[in-house]
Amino acid sequence: MTLSTLSTASDKLYEGVIGLEVHAELMTASKMFCACPVVDSTAAEPNTAVCPVCLGLPGALPVLNRRAVEFGLRVGLALNCTIPAFNQFARKSYFYPDLPKGYQISQYAYPLASNGWLEIDLPGGATRRVGIRRAHLEEDTGKLTHVDDHSLVDLNRAGVPLLEIVTEADLRTAEEAEAYARKLRAILQYLGVNSGDMSKGVLRIEPNISVRPAGSSELRTRTEVKNLNSIRSLARATAYEIERQIAVYEAGGEVQQATLGWDEARQVTVVQRVKESADDYRYFPEPDLPVVEIDAAWVERERAALPELPDAKRERFMRDLGLSRYDAALLVADRAVADYYEAALSAGGDPKQVANYLTGDVFRQMNLEGRERDDIGAIKLAPQALAGLVRLVQDGVIHHGGAKKLLVTLYEQGGDPAALVEAQGLAQVRDEDMLGATVDQVLAENPAEVERYLAGEEKLIRFLMGAAMRALRGQGDPAAIQRLLAERLAGRQDES
Ligand SMILES: [Zn+2]
Repeated sequence: MTLSTLSTASDKLYEGVIGLEVHAELMTASKMFCACPVVDSTAAEPNTAVCPVCLGLPGALPVLNRRAVEFGLRVGLALNCTIPAFNQFARKSYFYPDLPKGYQISQYAYPLASNGWLEIDLPGGATRRVGIRRAHLEEDTGKLTHVDDHSLVDLNRAGVPLLEIVTEADLRTAEEAEAYARKLRAILQYLGVNSGDMSKGVLRIEPNISVRPAGSSELRTRTEVKNLNSIRSLARATAYEIERQIAVYEAGGEVQQATLGWDEARQVTVVQRVKESADDYRYFPEPDLPVVEIDAAWVERERAALPELPDAKRERFMRDLGLSRYDAALLVADRAVADYYEAALSAGGDPKQVANYLTGDVFRQMNLEGRERDDIGAIKLAPQALAGLVRLVQDGVIHHGGAKKLLVTLYEQGGDPAALVEAQGLAQVRDEDMLGATVDQVLAENPAEVERYLAGEEKLIRFLMGAAMRALRGQGDPAAIQRLLAERLAGRQDES
């Protein structure tokens, strides 16, 4: 059985067929077709960022935000898409109070970008290319809040630029869907076009899912899952839905085409709407906006504006800094983590040691706190402090065990590592006389173990080492203790 197939009670093999539709709000200063500012719609006073254009008042005409096109082009290029020589907006019929015009301006026959791919990393070091069918621009809708028997509408979000990115149905498992979502989110963050915050809805990822007998090429009825507020929920909902559909087929039933929601509390998908027929959006070209021509020079300008993307950064970390592929991949997976790491290196931290503490101890503290990796910029342990801590270890001022304790303190309180070492007396004991006295005391207190060591039980050196470290409350220089112990024991060997 491979990772991409699932066996069942009847011993049939199934595989998932998954495509992802992503809506990413673009972080432009103003909306897509008017001068209204893009505001945090979870925080701003409702209906304060609106004007006749985004309110859909009669006679108001849209004007295209060039910045949104530039951001879309950069995403298209980062996803290895073809950029057609022109793209065109279209009206999508849509009657719902969250868009007062009665239609949404989107793109249909002529999208901004098409036919791209994104390479994802799979467990075990394998990679897979996921086809990108298209990426097109459209406007976001407003937000409805349902209160008892009525609804409130906030149009701050109406007209915010959105990029819709649609994959081919190339994904086979929940793990692959998760890997794609993480990689795409990282790219959007690296490009600076989207914060990646799914809990605020600025990034929305919706899988469409069907299953089929493994190895067949048939396409069965699919379902769509909406309102996923994290990548973890995307993975869980996808895994759940694959299992649910297999169970339906195994019981002799048929999967019904439907839009599902994810119930976070119960960890199950629930039917929101059963689809009897395809939606009829009656697209037609938007008469109020010109066709957007993209010449080669414009494409090249945007290509030149692309920053170093996650894959390139990972390769550089491996090649120039000697990091393992695993560590490098962890460090580039979130732009905020990569920025933090590079800031620590700029402050003089050793690349490998900083990587070890960051992916080990720092991530552990963040997990304990329930903090997301891309929130690393907000922790109290500054990258300069992490670099300083690593230097204290390398200079022999503190040992690894002391560094771990110090890191927890810095994580909880912030501050300067050298000053804390001073204040808390964490510096390790390197005084030869004191270490020698401790070693002599340990040897005197453990005559039986010393005897057995001298008789050939060499592993007892670790027992004696531990006793000495304990006597020094973990602050002795381990290398010096080991050397002194070995010297003293060798001396006794010669005597006997
Ligand atoms: Zn407006």
